[in-house]
Amino acid sequence: MGSGLAGLRAAIEAARTGRGRVSIAVVTKTQPMRSHSVSAEGGTAAVLYPEEGDSLESHMWDTVKGSDFLADQDVVERFVNLAPHEIIQLEHWGMPWARRQDGKIAQRYFGGQSYPRACYAEDKVGFYEMSTLYDTCLRYDEIVFYDEWVVTKILKNNGRFAGVVAISLKNGELALFNAKAGILATGGAGRIYSFATFGHSSTPDGYAIAYRAGIPLRDMEFVQFHPTGLVPSGILITEAARGEGGILRNKDGERFMERYAPKAKDLAPRDIVSRAMITEIREGRGFKTEDGEDYLLLDLTVIDPDVIKKKLTSIREICLRNAGIDPINEPIPVRPVAHYYMGGVDANIDGATELPGLWAAGEVACTSMNGANRLGSNSTSECLVWGRITGEQAARFALTHPAVEPLKSEIDEEEKRIYDKLLGPAPRVNPYNIKKEIQALMERHFHVYREASSMEEGLRKLRALKQQAEMGVEDKSRYYNTNLINVLEIDYMFDVCEVIGAAAIHRSESRGAHARVDYPLRDDKNWLNHILVYKKIDGFEFSYKEVVITKFKPTERTY
Ligand SMILES: Cc1cc2nc3c(=O)[nH]c(=O)nc-3n(C[C@H](O)[C@H](O)[C@H](O)COP(=O)(O)OP(=O)(O)OC[C@H]3O[C@@H](n4cnc5c(N)ncnc54)[C@H](O)[C@@H]3O)c2cc1C
Repeated sequence: MGSGLAGLRAAIEAARTGRGRVSIAVVTKTQPMRSHSVSAEGGTAAVLYPEEGDSLESHMWDTVKGSDFLADQDVVERFVNLAPHEIIQLEHWGMPWARRQDGKIAQRYFGGQSYPRACYAEDKVGFYEMSTLYDTCLRYDEIVFYDEWVVTKILKNNGRFAGVVAISLKNGELALFNAKAGILATGGAGRIYSFATFGHSSTPDGYAIAYRAGIPLRDMEFVQFHPTGLVPSGILITEAARGEGGILRNKDGERFMERYAPKAKDLAPRDIVSRAMITEIREGRGFKTEDGEDYLLLDLTVIDPDVIKKKLTSIREICLRNAGIDPINEPIPVRPVAHYYMGGVDANIDGATELPGLWAAGEVACTSMNGANRLGSNSTSECLVWGRITGEQAARFALTHPAVEPLKSEIDEEEKRIYDKLLGPAPRVNPYNIKKEIQALMERHFHVYREASSMEEGLRKLRALKQQAEMGVEDKSRYYNTNLINVLEIDYMFDVCEVIGAAAIHRSESRGAHARVDYPLRDDKNWLNHILVYKKIDGFEFSYKEVVITKFKPTERTY
């Protein structure tokens, strides 16, 4: 399910593992090259040159420290070990990595990474990676693409995964995909915030579908705000812009990050830079647009124009097209923007979920590799590493287990929900207004800084909105009914926003991206654990998992 980096990498590995003996359906809401992964800009992290000073241990330490010690260290160790192989594997499949003078793969700096270890291709790394993987998929007869099919439900029988129900965008046909094994790779929760770097098709479908199937969501309180979203559109200005030397400035022209992170400065991890920016704005050292939107400046004029033209090509293009600014001559207006979800569908170190036969990979999964804050350039590598692991595991499982028949009652139920309930009577409320309200509420109550009273108010409003929503679909057509798909997505948003809100209220400490004004300190005594949220008939239930600590004891996190 899903055809981003994780889904495509998984499909290839499943095909390689079960050559001639497996049949793989890639069921995906968008055409593969419209998946969010295509817009990854800056780079993919891996240690390539230990002989030049970098080391796996250093990548592991940076990731664990970046995570504010909430990452499971066995998972991080596996990640740093496998990431270099994925870089080379992609190279063998045709990935045009940028080169150094000596012809080897080039790497650049990213926030919180002690060495330049982000491999890149201009500033369009995701586009080139996706093209490489999609091309490779097309070489395998075992892989069949079902583009523009939206998965709406995970089916189970006898405690095992039994397939999924999906609806075709083209003609509204509802179909059962019966399968022995499945991999959920539906990407991040995306557009539950209004100011976000995601495309509009990135919605939390996968999280909600897994949650409704009884699988817990983990670490959901941790939402990453990237420091540099272009104002007012929210389009991402990659961290590589600062990796190449860009500087953040306030209204007084001051390089304010020197005060917040004296050593790492503008390349401190994202949670730290975003908090510094919001503080600058709140203390009156920001700018305002004519429409009253806050912003600070990202100054690339200090970079050699040739570097901008060669290595930050699309950033320049984005600024020229969307803001009428040439970053060679003028600073860029930016502010923190919703960008990534550290939490997700609870999965073990192999990406296996609690439901036998179902794996999760990529941004939708939570193996707790990223803990409370992800380092830039680790996510695309994570998608590749766990795409590979889950693809292999799922294929092996399918080859050694008998098929499970889905329960007819579960399928009938889904058919009724979609055709009778959503496509039935005319809706009483406009779903697009509801969506706007959800997004506004998340922006207001669950942003960079959080506080109990405001979050509780947010959760109350969210629940009230859900009760009155009673969503339906105005457009009753079966063909390309995007209205229906949007209503399904909004329905999933309610579940996921509620889990984020409840977990954020529950975690009474500050750690990584979760910064509580009322609990400003990290509390390792009570909170060195993961929060899991299970769906129950009349609400939800919390459960906990200890953080796996192998090499590094939690210490104070300074940069
Ligand atoms: C603008 C931007 C820039 C980024 N830059 C970087 C970077 O430089 N380096 C880095 O490491 N990370 C970066 N990230 C993060 C990284 O790109 C993502 O975390 C990663 O690409 C997610 O990949 P994925 O395979 O999990 O999901 P996605 O690429 O989001 O794909 C999800 C897939 O699931 C499908 N899908 C969704 N719902 C359904 C459904 N109901 N039924 C069927 N299919 C469904 C979609 O169609 C899509 O194919 C960036 C993110 C953004 C938003």
